[in-house]
Amino acid sequence: MNNGVHVLEAVPGHVLQVAVDAPQHSGLAGPLSYRSEHAVEPGSLVRVPLGKRELLGVVWPAQPPGDDTLPRELRAIAAHFADLPPLGPDWCRLLDFAAGYYQRSVGELASAVLPPQLRELSTDQLAARLRKLDRKRAAAPPDAAPARPDLAPEQAHAVQHLQAQLQAQLQGARPKPTLLFGVTGSGKTEVYLRAAEAALAAGRQVLVLVPEINLTPQLEARFGERFAALLPEPSAIVSLHSALTPAQRLQNWLAAHLGRARLVLGTRLAVFASLPSLGLIVVDEEHDPSYKQQDGARYSARDLAVWRAHDLGIPVVLGSATPSLESWQHAESGRYERVTLAQRIGGGALPRVRLFDMKSLPLKAGVTTALTAPLLAELQARLDRGEQSLVFLNRRGYAPVLHCGECQWKSDCPHCSAWRVFHKRDRTLRCHHCGFTERVPRACPQCGNHDIAPIGRGTERLEEQLAEALPGARVLRIDADSTRRKGELEAQLQAVHDGEVDILVGTQMITKGHDFRRIRFVAAVNPDGALFSSDFRAPERLFALLMQAGGRAGRDASAESPAEMWVQTWHRDHALYQALARHDYVRFARDQLAERQSASLPPFAHLALLRAEARTAEAAKAFLDAAAALAQDTAVLVYPPVPHAVARVADVERQQMLVEAAQRGRLQAFLRDWVPALIALKREHKAVLRWAVDVDPLSI
Ligand code: ADP
Ligand code: ZN
Ligand code: ZN
Repeated sequence: MNNGVHVLEAVPGHVLQVAVDAPQHSGLAGPLSYRSEHAVEPGSLVRVPLGKRELLGVVWPAQPPGDDTLPRELRAIAAHFADLPPLGPDWCRLLDFAAGYYQRSVGELASAVLPPQLRELSTDQLAARLRKLDRKRAAAPPDAAPARPDLAPEQAHAVQHLQAQLQAQLQGARPKPTLLFGVTGSGKTEVYLRAAEAALAAGRQVLVLVPEINLTPQLEARFGERFAALLPEPSAIVSLHSALTPAQRLQNWLAAHLGRARLVLGTRLAVFASLPSLGLIVVDEEHDPSYKQQDGARYSARDLAVWRAHDLGIPVVLGSATPSLESWQHAESGRYERVTLAQRIGGGALPRVRLFDMKSLPLKAGVTTALTAPLLAELQARLDRGEQSLVFLNRRGYAPVLHCGECQWKSDCPHCSAWRVFHKRDRTLRCHHCGFTERVPRACPQCGNHDIAPIGRGTERLEEQLAEALPGARVLRIDADSTRRKGELEAQLQAVHDGEVDILVGTQMITKGHDFRRIRFVAAVNPDGALFSSDFRAPERLFALLMQAGGRAGRDASAESPAEMWVQTWHRDHALYQALARHDYVRFARDQLAERQSASLPPFAHLALLRAEARTAEAAKAFLDAAAALAQDTAVLVYPPVPHAVARVADVERQQMLVEAAQRGRLQAFLRDWVPALIALKREHKAVLRWAVDVDPLSI
């Protein structure tokens, strides 16, 4: 017997279950067994060998699979991050739940949601970072805390409700989720601040989720200012989102994990932050689609926040002026408690909504212009009074397509079933799906005609036309193109707040959350498109977007002129616009829910979408057909495969197939059997490049 083996046999090894980054599809879905000389606590971070690689892993609180593998036959863990306290059992439960619910392996999900730098650091390097945290010195606390405003009566009621929940929870009660249904400008943030204050005072951590990265600095400043005295440590308030540098993200994650960060503000990925003394979760703008991760592990941070709060028995607040119909239905059925803020702060009125009928224009004018004469006149009047206006168009670029009138050539993307968008500033044709970019041709590439012309308009063209039509107006555009470089968005928003802008033009980026005090007039110039989308959620999204956009107007109640929202439409009588004109979310929700119920759509049915991608549509469809044949469960309905709304992207064909069940549990039970079968099926369908299951898909 050789020495090495002898030594190995002498090791009284411990068997550990370790979650490693092996995708669900690899067939290594569960945690894997490893050997360790020392006992290692569940939740500890380790590095382990897998094949020829060495990966980050989390020691999982799981039973070893029921085989009789001896420790010495297992590979040993390579390193243990002993300086780092283990992730808590609650964190592991959250990951177990999310992995099971969304059909991913727990290790894959863990590695997707832990800070990426953890994967690269050695145990020594990580230990060095933890020192670094210690050395940060506390800033001098400010002399006086900023004055808290007196709460409006409705706010006070909401705060009392949440304080009572926090109290009851300390006595072991499990509070219901709270839906904070508050009109725009009703002061929801102040309610979050007071609830957070109560949780912090009880020694608990607070998690605040926001949909957009660009809203975190603003909110961070507000929370920072309010809690400067209560939380003087510099790492007591941190943000977590994907735009942080890897080093910052690790730093902030560690602060949360070690309990130094008392308040964490973040985007959807922050729902997975390790928070050992979490006592309250806030989900701001809970209806926002950004809470759904759209690739990789497709999870809903809003839904996981509710699950996490329930699991911990702590309060969760979902805030919105236009709640998701799922949350609204939960409030109707009594699963959530609804608290309403119907009044704007300071008694300001919501903007009057004017539905401008495009049919009232001479036909030709209506077809060719978004800037109608009455709209321009209104903008001019506001300009003359020195007021700010916002013009909203949810399409960036100069024009969605270039067109040759001679031969009918259009600027299609050679790789996608989509047009390439004309961007005038850098004279490019850009595909917004695959990124394929070329310089704009001087002449029609097909027939040589020099008169190729843009059709339709995006924000860039709108900005140009506004500047032309209203000389003297200071027009600023904010969209994904104008804010590519770091700091640009902040600078542009500041200019709006400082009154250096008369007319703000932009996409949905400017309609969300911002507390613009000077805007009195908001115009949506071309919102009709979404009325005719095949996606059953399109009306819900359009309504929320328009309510949100309108909510930017008239937030300063002391101004004299009435605030107004102007909606240009060809479908003035549409129920959606009629409800919008009355600010009647409740009516809109009731109508939509009735439609959803009669059509067996969520929240009255539960959906999963199986997606498949291949070089040919046939190959993708063949996989889905075979997958449908494997579905024998009569409790689910499997629809025929259909092409994705943008069927081809980057030369890949995308097909999808909907699975529906009346109960969530039925769908989950079905998926538990079906997904492993699909993993096996995929091996026979070599032409399929990618496939994925999307549970509770947001857009179909
Ligand atoms: P919402 O998120 O509901 O749209 P905000 O939280 O942005 O509204 O509040 C709107 C404005 O009202 C903010 O400028 C905020 O500072 C102010 N505000 C909130 N509550 C009060 C209050 N009780 N007294 C005075 N101002 C308040
Ligand atoms: Zn041509
Ligand atoms: Zn393309």
